[in-house]
Amino acid sequence: MAQLRFEALKKLSDRPRVHVDLPSPFVSKIFGENVYGIEQMRATLAPAVFKKVSQAIKNHEKIDEATADAVASAAKSWAMAKGATHFTHWFQPMTGGTAEKHDSFFDALAGIERFKGSELVQQEPDASSFPSGGIRSTFEARGYTAWDPTSPMFLYGKTLSIPTIFVSYTGETLDTKAPLLKALKAVDIAATQVCQLFDKDIQHVVASLGPEQEYFVVDKALFQARPDLVMAGRSVFGHSPARGQQLEDHYFGSIPGRVYDFMKEFEIECWKLGIPVRTRHNEVAPSQFEVAPLFEEVNVANDHNQLMMDVMGRVAEKHNLKALFHEKPFAGLNGTGKHNNWSLITDTGVNLYAPTSSARDNLLFLTFFITTIKAVHEYADLLRASIATQANDFRLGANEAPPAIMSVFIGSQMTAVLDELEKKGNVKIEKGDNMYMKLGIDQIPEIILDATDRNRTSPFAFTGNKFEFRAVGGSDNCATPMTALNAIVAEQLTHFYNAVNKEIEKGEEKRLAIVNVLRQYIKESKAIRFEGDGYSEEWVQEAAKRGLNNIKTTPNALNAYTTKKSLDLFEKHGIMSHKETEARTEIRLEAYIKRVQIEARVMGDLAMNHIVPTAIAYQNKLITNANGLNGLGIDNKAVIQTIKEISGYIEIIKVGVREMIEERKRINKITDTHKRAVAYCDDIKEKYFDAIRDAVDKLELLVDDEDWPLVKYRELLFLR
Ligand code: ADP
Ligand code: MG
Repeated sequence: MAQLRFEALKKLSDRPRVHVDLPSPFVSKIFGENVYGIEQMRATLAPAVFKKVSQAIKNHEKIDEATADAVASAAKSWAMAKGATHFTHWFQPMTGGTAEKHDSFFDALAGIERFKGSELVQQEPDASSFPSGGIRSTFEARGYTAWDPTSPMFLYGKTLSIPTIFVSYTGETLDTKAPLLKALKAVDIAATQVCQLFDKDIQHVVASLGPEQEYFVVDKALFQARPDLVMAGRSVFGHSPARGQQLEDHYFGSIPGRVYDFMKEFEIECWKLGIPVRTRHNEVAPSQFEVAPLFEEVNVANDHNQLMMDVMGRVAEKHNLKALFHEKPFAGLNGTGKHNNWSLITDTGVNLYAPTSSARDNLLFLTFFITTIKAVHEYADLLRASIATQANDFRLGANEAPPAIMSVFIGSQMTAVLDELEKKGNVKIEKGDNMYMKLGIDQIPEIILDATDRNRTSPFAFTGNKFEFRAVGGSDNCATPMTALNAIVAEQLTHFYNAVNKEIEKGEEKRLAIVNVLRQYIKESKAIRFEGDGYSEEWVQEAAKRGLNNIKTTPNALNAYTTKKSLDLFEKHGIMSHKETEARTEIRLEAYIKRVQIEARVMGDLAMNHIVPTAIAYQNKLITNANGLNGLGIDNKAVIQTIKEISGYIEIIKVGVREMIEERKRINKITDTHKRAVAYCDDIKEKYFDAIRDAVDKLELLVDDEDWPLVKYRELLFLR
């Protein structure tokens, strides 16, 4: 296997750069060229049909058959003119990724290409291979995909791709998109109702999302020479490089040439697909980068994020690279997150989280701001659960990642505002002096400073005109956390509305009624607000005193989904029935178990079949050496010491792997899924992973570099 490592390393030296040219210096010329969106519909549909479609999208209404037929026909013509031969329903099952099943436009029986409205609206993929959490019994394996007209169709390769939801024969949702759409509707209804206390013109509120995507890039050959990266997405072994991120010289440093080519190309592909990627830069860890799109409506933004990850994967291949989205591919280095920037925006164009200088608008802003903090306070555990995955457990609370403790950061200025409001019940936000920074250079205009401080350590931070949910994992589908967040905010807004109306009924003036409820919320949700260093040990202590939970593992975190409070929350807002929530939790527990199983197997295999034999071979060399020294009458104590150390580590590995296998056999017999997941967590992962890894990593330092079978961190990470 050492051979594989050195062959991979040899390839590095003659990797050509893949030159990429923008087809036009104007991105606007290519942006969205492969999208059949609202503009393309307007251009290709009869005005009456177009009106029906756009109304239906806006008002969450059904699209009738005739309209669907017209859309299908127009979409087919558009796609075929661009060379499409197939169409597919593109959906997001509970496996984490996306799925599709391609059908040809060509109808052999009729001898023509066609695409009926019914085919656009509904398909029946073979659902049996997707997880259902026990909802779908095996004899009734049918599932349907159904068109989501709120997310535009797109041409991907030669295939017209149709965003769809995925439901079982009995109507339960089997994907991540369907509950998200329902949560977005719930927050629209609840937020609009509250907005109308202020402005009757507001008819809808749209949630928006800008997911900042972090990722690592490594050479493809090196990646392939690491079975753990291939199988588990993360390196289960590997000693930290001598030069890690201590120098912090990678952050905003220049981008390595091959990565730059890759970025350029995937950005072009994204633009063609209407994905508004905007910023690119290096991250803190070596070989880590970030891409941020302009924010969009949550459902579309999430589809775009899913699609973007796919595009990045495909383009990386062409550049002999591999993009890694795993939450913690390399121990000891920063993990990979996907900051979910989120806000609510009215159909009159007002961002409800943007403070302004007008008093009326500010009360509206404060209403949403404070109610959101209150929602996070009430449902902190559910929010924590919404981002719980086996991979994210490695990241949360480790190396520059938000802790598993949920808290809200709002900055000193907003803290002062809430303190004032709590005391006096009457504040105006003035654009203070500190919001402008005079640079004293005539040619350069004043910069308007963000009203909020930056705090990178908070899992949920207010950043001026949006909240940023930073605890979301890099490989995750944003739909799950976004469903939870929008659901809890919808719930809290409903409570708020009812509380205000109660006060009004008691004779309180509307404005004062609103302020009264807000003051109460400020008091009640204080514990969730934290402005300090979220990475510190003090915070762990302080949070415990405040009664905030610090739930470190996925099996424990997921309990928050099946409490009566959460089950009722989702059911009440029409997002998921009790049964659906329970099934989904079951699926996530199963996924957790599988991931730990895979990692345990990969660890065992690598350790026993590659590391231990390598260590023994090296040990034999040392034994020969020790004997030789002895024969010459030279002191060989140091060599013998090393031989003993190696023996010790080999023993730890062998015993650990053997015990781990026995434990797995025992645990696999546990029938209750939750208990099995807890056992996999406590009795496999917690008990053995670090111990085995530690011994292997020590061996990596002892064994001759020439013999070491695994590509080393320094080789993976310092790509140029
Ligand atoms: P920073 O992380 O420094 O705040 P940006 O201001 O560029 O960086 O924003 C980061 C992400 O937040 C981008 O994807 C951006 O589109 C998104 N964003 C900005 N405003 C909003 C908003 N009102 N709602 C949702 N996302 C937003
Ligand atoms: Mg950010």
